[in-house]
Amino acid sequence: LIKKTTPIPIALYGGRNAVTMLPGDGIGPELMGYVREVFKYAGAPVDFEVIDIDPKSDDNSELEYAITSIKRNGVAIKGNIETKSESTLVLSRNVAIRNELDLYVNILHCKSYPGVPSRQQDIDIVIIRQNTEGEYAMLEHESVDGVVESMKVVTQSNSERVARFAFDYVKRTGRKRLTTIHKANIMKLSDGLFLDTSKKIAKEYPEIEHNDMIIDNCCMQLVSNPHQFDVMIMTNLYGSIVSNVVCGLIGGAGLLSGKNYGDHYAIFEPGTRNTGTAIAGKNIANPIAMLNAGVDMLEHLGHQQHANLIKRAIEKTLCEDKIHTPDLGGTAKSTDVVQRIIDHILQADIRPW
Ligand code: ADP
Ligand code: MG
Repeated sequence: LIKKTTPIPIALYGGRNAVTMLPGDGIGPELMGYVREVFKYAGAPVDFEVIDIDPKSDDNSELEYAITSIKRNGVAIKGNIETKSESTLVLSRNVAIRNELDLYVNILHCKSYPGVPSRQQDIDIVIIRQNTEGEYAMLEHESVDGVVESMKVVTQSNSERVARFAFDYVKRTGRKRLTTIHKANIMKLSDGLFLDTSKKIAKEYPEIEHNDMIIDNCCMQLVSNPHQFDVMIMTNLYGSIVSNVVCGLIGGAGLLSGKNYGDHYAIFEPGTRNTGTAIAGKNIANPIAMLNAGVDMLEHLGHQQHANLIKRAIEKTLCEDKIHTPDLGGTAKSTDVVQRIIDHILQADIRPW
């Protein structure tokens, strides 16, 4: 889905892709183990370059190595990386990676799994989020004692390319409507620029319906009448919050994956970017969100058949067999879910090899 303005470097050695794997902290490492296991049984032609980043470390050499690796491979799968340095000078590594690689768009396709218990059924909403600036510009300082300033940065160029990406996405996927979410009534300059820019780009896509909604109303509408939404575009922090609301509506943090794209690189990860510290090491984390990130990555690399094989195995496990971890109200262990997915892969009629 990446907009191919310039060639995208994708590492390919003898028909196999090399991709960077950043397990991150909390449940990240165990979930990556499941991805490797499922890829092995699906015969996915992918080799992982695994890089661990110590959350307590003050020096950024591992982070720099991770970024170099992604630049070389073009593609990464990632868990959430914690930053636990005592120093406030060490900034979030997740944000640093996205900014350094200029991954200016985050896409979260929120589609319900029939048969998975949730507050709302039949949801199919796409959230497109500006992924590198806004409130995540990481420009905070204490100007005088007890007064902290935090800069929200909105640029016309980034607003424009994320808007163009969003309209192209609507067009390419045959969707109907794009809604710009904002708070331009209060943040007249910053959100005003974001909104005006999407209105301007909308004129280039007369066949696509465009409207806008204030973020507060959007949250209320999402809870009371979510089926009205099709594709939404918003700035960084609203995107984070709205993503969590919609994931909550359709089954929580353990199901959906998110994609981060720039013009050159792509990173795939669980949609709500959780660490899951409290549930780590207990064999109860839902493996589906990270496996879906793996499916997204295979599609991006052009391994559509392997992606379909895993996707179908996930759907059968969740929707037909109803093997659910505790976050979905079930009693299955993470490994029960993974084992059933592998069983379905091994029983599939059509295999890519
Ligand atoms: P924490 O910061 O305490 O580690 P997070 O913010 O990472 O928690 O996650 C938010 C909530 O979502 C937590 O209740 C966590 O247990 C839950 N969660 C996140 N990922 C998963 C998953 N893969 N399976 C089940 N629950 C999850
Ligand atoms: Mg957290």
